[in-house]
Amino acid sequence: MTVHFPFQNTYAALPASFFARVAPTPVASPRLIKLNRALAVHLGLDPDLLESPEGAEILAGKRLPDGADPIAMAYAGHQFGHFVPQLGDGRAILLGEVIDKDGVRRDIQLKGSGPTPFSRRGDGRAALGPVLREYIVSEAMFALGIPTTRSLAAVTSGERVQRETMLPGAVLTRVASSHIRVGTFQFFAARGDTDGVRALADHVIARHYPDIGLAERPYHALLERVVARQADLVARWLLVGFIHGVMNTDNCSISGETIDYGPCAFMDEYNPAQVFSSIDEMGRYAYANQPQIALWNLTRLAECLLPLFSDDKDKAIEQAQFILGEFAEKFTAAYQSGLRRKIGLFTERDGDEALVQDLLDTMAKNQADFTLTFRHLSDAAAGKVRDQFTDPAAFDEWATRWRQRFADEPQSAAERQAAMRGVNPAFIPRNHRIEAVIAAAVNDDYKPFEELLTVLSKPFEDQPQFAAYAEPPLPNQRVTQTFCGT
Ligand code: AMP
Ligand code: MG
Repeated sequence: MTVHFPFQNTYAALPASFFARVAPTPVASPRLIKLNRALAVHLGLDPDLLESPEGAEILAGKRLPDGADPIAMAYAGHQFGHFVPQLGDGRAILLGEVIDKDGVRRDIQLKGSGPTPFSRRGDGRAALGPVLREYIVSEAMFALGIPTTRSLAAVTSGERVQRETMLPGAVLTRVASSHIRVGTFQFFAARGDTDGVRALADHVIARHYPDIGLAERPYHALLERVVARQADLVARWLLVGFIHGVMNTDNCSISGETIDYGPCAFMDEYNPAQVFSSIDEMGRYAYANQPQIALWNLTRLAECLLPLFSDDKDKAIEQAQFILGEFAEKFTAAYQSGLRRKIGLFTERDGDEALVQDLLDTMAKNQADFTLTFRHLSDAAAGKVRDQFTDPAAFDEWATRWRQRFADEPQSAAERQAAMRGVNPAFIPRNHRIEAVIAAAVNDDYKPFEELLTVLSKPFEDQPQFAAYAEPPLPNQRVTQTFCGT
């Protein structure tokens, strides 16, 4: 039996300037660490065969499955505000696309599978730590119901990669509804290649937004949709305390999925200015800056689309500005309604925004854990919520106003609790847990990795046997920086 991937590739049929054809570079001795069996089945793949030695070789890039048309995609991007006209997949190779059980087209991509024409000075490889981090956090995001790329598999390569030190090498198999980024549009726009921008826009519309294909102004509608998806996505990040860490335009997906998990993290204590990424020295991508940065990225996308909007440049700019102007409203609506749900409100009233903002401000002042505050609030466990605040009386005062606010809503306490428990997770991928998983894995112990994945697959369930995973780090376990590890 050989592993069969039902590929139906479309990106590789686009003009040659869109990618470079390149095969993965075989690795010494691949070993499967983890296969996401449920995802494999969803993609129409045989999980047993993927777990066979042949499957591991495919997932490590040592062997190509039938029908694969391996390519490295071209893209550009603004990195920390500076434009780089050519980035591209420097260590990722798209094997092809399959249609999943929901009828959705999915890219299957190897990350860490060897150099490509876009590698610049990089080695095309990935280290085990970042591969496990991406696996854990992307699957946790999925379980939290947040749009994201997913992880199909992780393998160790049997080779070492040179970073600050020598580290075990690994390959991640990533699944995305596409790997098209704002930076992909920028690649063509920067070259003055309007035909390229149009071909890409047409591909994106057919693939992600087919219902606008027949719209009177499909390219305007495309920008509108991407603006809406990004506004919704960033609101969802904020609502769970997620910090992407490297929101460069090349890490901003056109489909609205969270993509490129590098030095990302969930915060423990609520602090709007929180930054983890060691490379984000200016705090450009701090937690609370994320909406503003998403809009900045979308503005770069709009610039690429201007030639498709109108031959009259002023008119095109005016139209783009109008569409970009909808971001703030869309973001605020998603964020505020999410916050209302987090504090258990079923209705919407004047003053709600101030009420929830006062809670957040009090949390920030009192070093309250973001996740636990909302989770304990859901359980009406007033004592436990109070414990989150350095000055518990500050919470009591807020809690009185909160109870007054929902007193005249018709829902029962049980209904309110159930609704809140469904939006306020008990378990997030806390940094100190991820670090512990990586430290064990480097010593060839994958039990902590498996256990963490199990816990995070049901973030809204109590799982009393894993209660410790809900806890924030002890002072000596605190992780204050995350590294790109590229
Ligand atoms: P990232 O920070 O992972 O989003 O990557 C930014 C750019 O650097 C992309 O073009 C990557 O393909 C490239 N890159 C990152 N790490 C490596 C590596 N080890 N080898 C080659 N290219 C890399
Ligand atoms: Mg990237």
